[in-house]
Amino acid sequence: MLALIHELFPICRSITGEGVRQTLRRLQQLIPLEMHSLPSGTPVLDWTIPPEWNVRDAYLANDRGERVLDFRRNNLHLVNYSVPVDRRVEWSELQPRLHSLPAHPDWIPYRTSYYRPEWGFCLSDRQRQQLPPATYHVRIDTTLEPGVLNWGEAYFPGETDAEYVFSTHVCHPSLANDNLAGIAVAAFLAQQVASRPQRRFGYRFLLVPGTIGAIAWLATREARWGKVRGGLVLALLGHDYPFTYKQSSCGDREVDVALPHVLRQRNVAFEVMPFEPYGYDERQYESPGVRLGMGCLMRSRYAGYPEYHTSADNLERLHPVRLAEALAVCGDLVDVWEANRTYQNCQPRGEPQLGRRGLYQSLGGHSDAQGIERAMLWLLHATDGSQSLLQVAVRSGLPIAQLQRAADLLCQHDLLREISGSAAK
Ligand code: ZN
Repeated sequence: MLALIHELFPICRSITGEGVRQTLRRLQQLIPLEMHSLPSGTPVLDWTIPPEWNVRDAYLANDRGERVLDFRRNNLHLVNYSVPVDRRVEWSELQPRLHSLPAHPDWIPYRTSYYRPEWGFCLSDRQRQQLPPATYHVRIDTTLEPGVLNWGEAYFPGETDAEYVFSTHVCHPSLANDNLAGIAVAAFLAQQVASRPQRRFGYRFLLVPGTIGAIAWLATREARWGKVRGGLVLALLGHDYPFTYKQSSCGDREVDVALPHVLRQRNVAFEVMPFEPYGYDERQYESPGVRLGMGCLMRSRYAGYPEYHTSADNLERLHPVRLAEALAVCGDLVDVWEANRTYQNCQPRGEPQLGRRGLYQSLGGHSDAQGIERAMLWLLHATDGSQSLLQVAVRSGLPIAQLQRAADLLCQHDLLREISGSAAK
């Protein structure tokens, strides 16, 4: 994952343009990712696909022709989506176009202006203070022209038509934790899902430009909304912070139970935060007319760490172990979704006699015998038809895989029967 992130880091991504395509093409070498597109001007829900933005070059030059700020040195120097400019600019006119962070004088901020025609440069405050007041040549060789918005989509079908969605944004330029960490985890998770010998459900991986990409997907795939049982937005997974799980809008969907269960089972530090309409694309997937049942898994929180949206969100701050842990948690989540079924106890009046059926104290030599017996007792107790395997797992603290093995045994002896409906909880 770290190698992939290193490779993708230099690319100047935005919500449209060659950078996104280059990123998706690289990911296509890892996973069967389809690159979709919608032309500029296409209405998508309440939005419109913007003109496509590409950068050939951008710099600020002094009167000796020296580049004092150069997009080629760091793509954060140019305000993302800057309109083309080629003229001499007075010092006073330049000032409001320069963005720096006095509180962090060595960091370059990351700024965008997607939906308002603007231009500007970002620089460290230290560099700004050293810039002599003068007239400068502003050269922003960008194009904002009818083109397309791209997004990547990989779908791995399951035995049923229902599906789960993982989504991550792909629109940030040279920033590491904020979006490359999510991209890497999503890509490697997709590889794992692809190689599962069996899938009850379909899994969809969306690599979308933030906001407009998620809205474009929603607008073009309305027929799939009803098939989505839930999902997860992945972001900010590379820093050495505890996990933060942001709940779905309702806070009681399957993922809201499943993900904290997975994190508890792994015995890793995490916090749960309720939904708020501020953050990543869960805002779109959880809007009131959509509500796909999606949460968001982060480590550092959205806009909640000092390096957020600055040049200090760099490769050195990434922790490969933390990335790997995030990938493992997502893999566990898929396991839970796959295993989660609802059962009905067929002998609910008193405990059925397990010993007579060879199910109690009968697994001598099997180191897991006690665990299986506990799992069977929990299942027989809790499966009144209202609780899923996941809910029994949460209540009992037992791993869902163990409950699944016990449920299979009890089903073989006609003590349980599966009644999984379509409603996911
Ligand atoms: Zn961001």
